Amino acid sequence: MSDCLFCKIAAGEIPSTKVYEDEKVYAFLDIEPKAPFHAIVIPKKHIKSAAEINEDNSGEISAVFKAVSEIAKRENLENGFRVVNNCGADGGQTVGHIHFHLLAGRSLAWPPG
Ligand code: AMP
Ligand code: ZN
Repeated sequence: MSDCLFCKIAAGEIPSTKVYEDEKVYAFLDIEPKAPFHAIVIPKKHIKSAAEINEDNSGEISAVFKAVSEIAKRENLENGFRVVNNCGADGGQTVGHIHFHLLAGRSLAWPPG
């Protein structure tokens, strides 16, 4: 078994508050929310980061964005939301399984710090 935190969360081996699941995608609430609604949306398949997206795995990423749209409808995020991917050290990535932050519920500053 992989030693990846988000693989374990997707497999139910580490508890999380699920907000969405389908064949390819799992989404759960961030443990340290940065907005009133803050979910982490991941492909179940282990992809290290956005730098590793390619022809063979881009279907998993497409599924993530379809899920984002579905979650936004279910959670009534009609005022808008932000999807963030942190990639690599300078991007601020702390978990080595690609993930997309879905943030909503307040006006979000731009540009980010
Ligand atoms: P990043 O810094 O982009 O790699 O984002 C990692 C995110 O995962 C952070 O926002 C953390 O708060 C979140 N996180 C880490 N461990 C957990 C966990 N066990 N359950 C939910 N969220 C987590
Ligand atoms: Zn993983």
